[in-house]
Amino acid sequence: MPTLTRAEAAERASVVDVETYHVDLDVTADGDTFRSRAVVRFRAEAGAATFLEFEPVEIISISLNGTPVDPASVGDGRLSLTGLAASNELTVEAVMRYSIDGEGLHRYTDPADGNVYLYQHLFINNGGRVLPCFDQPDLKASWQVSVVAPEDWTVATNGMLVSRDGGRWEFAPTERISTYLASLIAGRYHVRTDEHDGIPLALYARAALAEHLDAEADEIFEITKQCLDRFHEMFEIRYPFGHYQQAFAPEFNFGAMEYPGLVVFRDEYIPRSVITESEREQRANVIAHEMAHMWFGDLVTMAWWDDLWLNESFAEYLGTRVASEATRFHGTWTTFAMHRKAWGLRADQRPSTHPVAPSEVTDTDAALLNFDGISYAKGAAVLKQLVAWLGDEAFLAGLNAHFEAHAYGNATLADLLSALSKASGRDLSGWAEVWLRRAQVNTLRTEVRTDGANYAEVAVVQTAPADYPTLRPHRVGLGLFDKGADGTVVRRRQLEVELDASGRTVITELAGEPAAALLLLNDGDLTYAKIRLDDASAAAVPLLLPLIDDSLARAVIWAATLDAVVDGERPVAELVTLVLAALPMETEVVIVEDVLRATRGLVDRYATAETRPAALELVAQATDRLLAASPAGSSGQLAAARGLIGATAEVSRLRGWLAGESVPAGLVVDADLRWLLHYRLAVLGASGQEAIDAELDSDRSASGEQWAARCRAALPEPAAKDAAWNAVVADGSLSNRLAELTAAGFWQPEQLGLLAGYVERYFAEMPEMMRVRKGMSAERAAMAAYPDVAVSEQTRRLAAELLEQPGLSPILRRVVQDADDDMRRALAARG
Ligand SMILES: [Zn+2]
Repeated sequence: MPTLTRAEAAERASVVDVETYHVDLDVTADGDTFRSRAVVRFRAEAGAATFLEFEPVEIISISLNGTPVDPASVGDGRLSLTGLAASNELTVEAVMRYSIDGEGLHRYTDPADGNVYLYQHLFINNGGRVLPCFDQPDLKASWQVSVVAPEDWTVATNGMLVSRDGGRWEFAPTERISTYLASLIAGRYHVRTDEHDGIPLALYARAALAEHLDAEADEIFEITKQCLDRFHEMFEIRYPFGHYQQAFAPEFNFGAMEYPGLVVFRDEYIPRSVITESEREQRANVIAHEMAHMWFGDLVTMAWWDDLWLNESFAEYLGTRVASEATRFHGTWTTFAMHRKAWGLRADQRPSTHPVAPSEVTDTDAALLNFDGISYAKGAAVLKQLVAWLGDEAFLAGLNAHFEAHAYGNATLADLLSALSKASGRDLSGWAEVWLRRAQVNTLRTEVRTDGANYAEVAVVQTAPADYPTLRPHRVGLGLFDKGADGTVVRRRQLEVELDASGRTVITELAGEPAAALLLLNDGDLTYAKIRLDDASAAAVPLLLPLIDDSLARAVIWAATLDAVVDGERPVAELVTLVLAALPMETEVVIVEDVLRATRGLVDRYATAETRPAALELVAQATDRLLAASPAGSSGQLAAARGLIGATAEVSRLRGWLAGESVPAGLVVDADLRWLLHYRLAVLGASGQEAIDAELDSDRSASGEQWAARCRAALPEPAAKDAAWNAVVADGSLSNRLAELTAAGFWQPEQLGLLAGYVERYFAEMPEMMRVRKGMSAERAAMAAYPDVAVSEQTRRLAAELLEQPGLSPILRRVVQDADDDMRRALAARG
């Protein structure tokens, strides 16, 4: 769809007030098109002109207030209307095209049974791919949907089902919602239903996943109910959209999307193989996140995309908090400290950094680029800091006043700040200026002087990058950890202090206090900053880290350590040694998984061809020790096994596990673990097309097909690489997910000799790929296909040349800029 500018949206909102969409879809025909009939009722300035987003394959009829409209009024993704009346009825009937890129009305055929599944995803500006609409968040309307579909299908939408007559479904009109929130699923979905506190609940997944949905339904319903209860305690307005349905759809681009009344998740969240507790926690977190959006995003919606953070930062903060408070997953803040914040920090230090709340997002393309670690994780970390500062009571009172004032409407940053200021009695303008309106991150470092065994002075020094010299007020925790007599590590004292924006704050409370073995800055993870420990504490990490029993404290230490390696302040060899010392004793699965993921990324890019094999071998040894130490059947065992498979070069052991030999007791080599083994063997050149085909023959499923694509792309054979590359770059019939996974398998540090020619091809061919694929699907493929393991000045030169090309897609520009910045760091660290 063509981009919509902010100026166009503002102009249109000044002319038009939308009342209702009545949409009637017919999805019974085979092939790649469907029928769409829409009646749009809206008020307007009499005599004015406007446009709707609309991208039909074929127009059957258009009429405005009973008068036919010339089909030539449709072009470039828009339907232009002139001579509007005060009250208008637009009726359009057209043939529209299904998508395979996850946007518009996505159509998927399940290889397991040939069943067809549809889901609708109109975000960010794809409404015109399904019906003519005023596709901007501040033109809300009530949606009434009916669908004609094969009689053995299930159809669901935001609205409640009113009647079902054979193949015709009629749904009740919704409350007023934004276009990007209109939802629909259709297909032979398997359904589970329940009810809680007067709210009907439902779950949907592909028929091929029926037994797995049944196995997961109790847990998902339980978490849903717990989160609903918690939100009802926190918020004065009850859940406002009738029923609460959650559908798991194939090839969904996001983790999930917060459509009111019908949330859609990627169906990887209904696993067919054993998963870890941290993966279950992540699912619980996503359930809570999407539910938070029912208030933040759906009930009260940003007026324009520059306030995207109002949606995502709040959903991330509230989702993490509610999952931790209401469900059995109490460790979500550990995951946040470790995993999510690293994502935010990385984005915030790149040349493309932007404020959490940018003052100017000029169009929908720019808005899409802000869907990053800053809008989600940094924004949530900043809110956590705000709550530490304001107190929870004032924070919740402010939110409730905000919902009350803007329910079913739109609001801005200024509206929210005024509600929070009123509730807390504090002027938030200074806070908002430095935390929300200015980009980049501060570094906090402890400086310690001792006098014998006691602290003479402890100070926290705050610095900022030269280009972003803002210092900020922070509220932080300081933890004093000592080694106890019995070999354990105890937190002797924890205090919370305010750091002003002067740059150096002396912690007077600690003068004369016996020095701790490890002084942990940002204990409790209250603030958002890069953390550096004093030298003595940093030196104590390898010994003390595994013995601290607070997982959040361990996560803060690991995050600081990894960040120092990312910055090239500490060598990757030192990290690998720490992993070998500490990981085998780690009991928190999310820390195991995240340390392995981050370490692998650093070993693959920061180690050289000469040093990498030894570094990887140490990672393999660490996972092997963890595997031996983990209880049979535990999540730790599964995480260790996956880490070992990814790092080891011991082909005979991998083949043995595939054949069921020497498998550790309690470890289930199920469908997905088998594929992981095949994948590693493919990377090592110890497998071939035949083995992959044979595995696919015994696993004709959606996941099997996706794994096979990734494995084929990983084979170190010229023909396999050529086929994979061409599929990603030029094959428009390849779906979003298959393109992304094919690209993900392509680049392997083990295969740089074979892949040398593809570095240049990336920069030559990606602009064309951006025309073959669109939107988020194009962005994902461009990221996954980036030659990030070909760490060299030559790669950087090619990136610089591409960035100078005029007319480069803004999405590709951002992908290349960010990846090139990562490469700059990797080269510096190697140097
Ligand atoms: Zn969200």
